[in-house]
Amino acid sequence: MTAVSEPCDIAIVGGGLVGSLLALALAEQHQTLLEGGCPPWRITLLERHAMAAQPLPGDSVLAGRSTALSESTRQLLLKLGLWSHIEPHCAPISTIHVSERGSWGVTRLEASESGLAALGYVVENQPLLAELHRALASTAVTVRAPVAVVGLSAGRQQQLQLSDGALTSALVVSAEGSDSQLLAAQGIHWQRSDYQQQAIIANLSLAQPHQGVAYERFAEGGPVALLPLPDSAGLHRMALVWTHPEGQQQYWLDASDSEFCQRLEQLFGERIGAVTAVGERRAFALGLQRSSEQVRRGLVVLGNAAHTLHPVAGQGFNLSVRDVAALADELLAARLDGAEAGDLAALERYRQRQQCDQQQTIAFSHWLPKLFASRWPGAALLRRSGLAAMEGLTPLRQRFAAFGMGSDRGVLR
Ligand SMILES: Cc1cc2nc3c(=O)[nH]c(=O)nc-3n(C[C@H](O)[C@H](O)[C@H](O)COP(=O)(O)OP(=O)(O)OC[C@H]3O[C@@H](n4cnc5c(N)ncnc54)[C@H](O)[C@@H]3O)c2cc1C
Repeated sequence: MTAVSEPCDIAIVGGGLVGSLLALALAEQHQTLLEGGCPPWRITLLERHAMAAQPLPGDSVLAGRSTALSESTRQLLLKLGLWSHIEPHCAPISTIHVSERGSWGVTRLEASESGLAALGYVVENQPLLAELHRALASTAVTVRAPVAVVGLSAGRQQQLQLSDGALTSALVVSAEGSDSQLLAAQGIHWQRSDYQQQAIIANLSLAQPHQGVAYERFAEGGPVALLPLPDSAGLHRMALVWTHPEGQQQYWLDASDSEFCQRLEQLFGERIGAVTAVGERRAFALGLQRSSEQVRRGLVVLGNAAHTLHPVAGQGFNLSVRDVAALADELLAARLDGAEAGDLAALERYRQRQQCDQQQTIAFSHWLPKLFASRWPGAALLRRSGLAAMEGLTPLRQRFAAFGMGSDRGVLR
């Protein structure tokens, strides 16, 4: 016999970065709803893996993926009271150094020029997720993990089939990441554009401190990003995202540590100094993926399930955070107006509000690596002139920095 859980207003499928953050943003509306004479949300977060509130034992200081958080993301984390817990795990970015190998074009974006303490903050995914999960424990959100959502039947209410029972909800938010079987079964499909590239990610230790500099270097094979990480266990650390044409990644996955580190030293020259060690290397196939629909009555598609971006400009999670803020806002406004959680008009308002931001951010992440990968002679000139113009023109540099930080597309109204 299957166990039937208490019905809820909002069921969030996926307790990754995006699903967990949405649960926290909705939980924060508790008092506002009470003051508005509305019952607080009944929220259930469902995650197929166990959710750890602290980094897993045995993780080495050179393991794991990282995320660069933009200013707009920091703003939401501040509003939710989470920033003070996350900031100790972050390395602030004081300078972004953009260059192309074999070219004179180079530009530096400085936090001080924008009047900010930092252009962004780099955090390892593990402690970030652990802090979100820890914060969830002190909210009224019902967290169910490990449990898989294995089926969904749409009706007046949404019926979720779980690996251990069933659940009814007015609204289902799919934050399942880029491979959702659940959405596919609903007839939602994905437009994919395959970049024919793979990103190798790894953490490095360096002989010299990074001084808060993030590097974006466009090499022959594709872009290479190096992001500052907080020092740990006496090591100066940076996170690497190294793009390779499809087929070439295996060579660099199998290369010895010393060959790998030497190649990076060659790519970056004396800017970064000696690379003394590299942690576990992993490869990710790169593609742009967009869901054919983001909202239906009673259903929202969010995070990587809605749009998976090229990681080169570090925009994927930051865009989803702005989506989370806008969705939470529209759901609150509809609830205070007496509408149901799955009300299509409110969900449509959310979609329209985020449409422009999504289009611009996706275009930026899509065309930047394409421009730098192009072998068309005019593209080389465009790249050099573009980087040189940015270096010479402070307002242009500031606009580029503001876009990267998401600070021109705020999360708070
Ligand atoms: C190499 C790389 C570097 C990146 N760097 C940056 C960066 O610097 N800045 C930035 O903004 N973005 C970056 N991104 C993008 C960022 O990582 C993603 O946007 C983000 O992780 C998406 O989170 P998500 O919660 O949508 O999906 P996921 O992290 O995939 O989470 C989905 C969750 O749903 C669960 N789940 C799935 N199906 C079910 C089910 N049926 N039932 C229950 N649970 C389910 C999964 O177990 C998982 O926990 C990078 C991406 C890559 C690949």
